[in-house]
Amino acid sequence: MKTLSAPLAVAIVGMGPRGISVIERLAAHLHEHPSTPPITLHLIDDAEHGAGRIWETSQTRTLCMNTLAGAVTLFTEPESTLTAPALEGPILYEWIQLLRGDDPTAAGISDAKVELFRQFPPTVDRAFATELDESRPESHPSRALYGAYLRWVLTVALAQLPDGVEVVHHFSRATDIADAGDHDVLTLADGSQVAADKTVLAYGWQVPAANEEEQRLAAADLNWVRPDNPVEQPVEEIPAGQKVLVRGLGMGFFDVMALVTINRGGEFVADDSARGGLRYQPSGREPQLVVTSGRGYPYLPKSQYHSLPPKADLSRFKAALADLGDDFDFGAEVLPALVRDAYAAYYPERAAEIDAAKLHADTLPALAAELSAALNCEFRLDYWMNPLAAYDGDDPTGFIAAGLERDIAESQAGRDSRLKAALWAISAARKPASIAGSEGRMSWASRTGAYREFMAFGQMVGSGPPLFRTQQLLALIDAGLITFLGDHPQLEIGDAFTLRTRFGAASSDWLVDAWMHQPDVRHAVDPMSVSLQARTRPFHDHGHPTGSPETTWQRRTIHPDGAVDERLHIIGIPTYAQWPDTTISPMPGTDPLMLQETDRTAGDLLA
Ligand SMILES: Cc1cc2nc3c(=O)[nH]c(=O)nc-3n(C[C@H](O)[C@H](O)[C@H](O)COP(=O)(O)OP(=O)(O)OC[C@H]3O[C@@H](n4cnc5c(N)ncnc54)[C@H](O)[C@@H]3O)c2cc1C
Repeated sequence: MKTLSAPLAVAIVGMGPRGISVIERLAAHLHEHPSTPPITLHLIDDAEHGAGRIWETSQTRTLCMNTLAGAVTLFTEPESTLTAPALEGPILYEWIQLLRGDDPTAAGISDAKVELFRQFPPTVDRAFATELDESRPESHPSRALYGAYLRWVLTVALAQLPDGVEVVHHFSRATDIADAGDHDVLTLADGSQVAADKTVLAYGWQVPAANEEEQRLAAADLNWVRPDNPVEQPVEEIPAGQKVLVRGLGMGFFDVMALVTINRGGEFVADDSARGGLRYQPSGREPQLVVTSGRGYPYLPKSQYHSLPPKADLSRFKAALADLGDDFDFGAEVLPALVRDAYAAYYPERAAEIDAAKLHADTLPALAAELSAALNCEFRLDYWMNPLAAYDGDDPTGFIAAGLERDIAESQAGRDSRLKAALWAISAARKPASIAGSEGRMSWASRTGAYREFMAFGQMVGSGPPLFRTQQLLALIDAGLITFLGDHPQLEIGDAFTLRTRFGAASSDWLVDAWMHQPDVRHAVDPMSVSLQARTRPFHDHGHPTGSPETTWQRRTIHPDGAVDERLHIIGIPTYAQWPDTTISPMPGTDPLMLQETDRTAGDLLA
């Protein structure tokens, strides 16, 4: 650590959730040091500091979180795994309750959280008033409202920093990091420079270089909307009435769907005679969406529990995880137990039979087929991996619409849906599975085979939209504004874009890719990421280079020659191939890995 006469310059690039948390954790560590050194803290982001690009408070409130108000926080908890004391603060829903003046005792909010809130009274835009009033623990808050919460957490975090820490905000993008001997020099897009003794890159979703198909798409004299965060995609430029091809049926699609309907003046109204319970009143300014994806079927809606979700019983799966050695085979050693858990959730009364069934397969579809045969039951878990696969008619839109009607009914059944209970087991297993397999502990064959297939399935059944978005989708199908093209689309680029599936083809001047790429250090294109190449190397899993930069436990980068960087840390989303659970925001009561990571990194800044 530097002496009092030489301030330590620390740069944090990225002022989203992780950047904020590093500040809060840095403050906690500084309070642990009896002689606090002077520090200059440089906070760098061209997006709103304390919300970051994804959670900007000025964005449309049409876009909502995929997580629930009662299931997200940015504060550490006393029982968390930390190396400096926790700062107890309200989770998002508690913060909403305190903002609207709910009685904290009746709401069960701890005194420490209430006190922190009183010390830092938030000011929140009046535009959020209705949303605040209507919020419940199981609400999907607007992204903008989560941004307002995050900005408040930033205010709190900055106030925790001891005297002797000077904070400098830079509202610009870092474009270069150069090694200047005993420190680094960060160049920003506005031309200024920052000298840093330590740097944390909390820079989230980095868009990789265009692949071969994307280069052809960009070169075509047509309108291609590239994969990105939906608020950054220029879908407002799509002309009214225009036929538009859309690839992707996950969260990006539901965002685009909402932006080109609700944000163009259309309205969804409750209507008992509509099959999904909603009817769409068009504004006349909507485009016509023709949608497809690899699976061809939309992500399934979340269950409507009227509360936070129940805890999935993963007892067999967790027992299997506890017995694993290194280089384990996910398909053979873990999946059978998980498939039994899913079937036991569906048929709790048949648990003994489920446990006694002999299973030999090592992929999810084959295990599900074996278990369904052993039980001689109707339920087929594998059907849900690809609901369109077995359809051989000629009306994919009609088939999917009927499927959505059923999916809505299952979602509305909540805890009474056996199907949702089984699928919830699959969804809930993702985090423990990713922890067990992190740092290359899973065999490469199973990581790229059975595990990848399971994670994609978990994504579809567990990371789908809120129920109301699926109801809106069905209303738009019934309004004639959305049709489905089928699965496994093939792209042709000519005078127009054409997508072809086994059901037929559609062409348009407009193509929207409704998803986001994972960052990939092997194909860096952002200038700052490119400038890091001498100080990073891809994490290798069983000798295979991945898209993540390799880092130490404290998240220092590893150079191409294996040396550990003295000053540079990378945290979060870009490190997904080495470390587990890097995407989702911290959930209260789960000892979130994101906060463990920011805690360790902040401690290492002072080492
Ligand atoms: C569209 C979308 C929706 C999501 N919805 C949810 C959800 O509902 N629930 C959930 O839990 N998670 C959601 N996520 C996941 C989300 O990534 C995490 O919740 C969280 O935002 C990650 O925090 P972070 O600080 O690591 O990264 P980010 O939030 O991505 O913040 C990174 C910041 O770094 C900045 N930055 C990048 N490069 C530079 C540079 N060169 N110079 C300066 N600044 C830079 C960016 O502007 C950005 O503000 C969503 C992600 C996306 C993309």
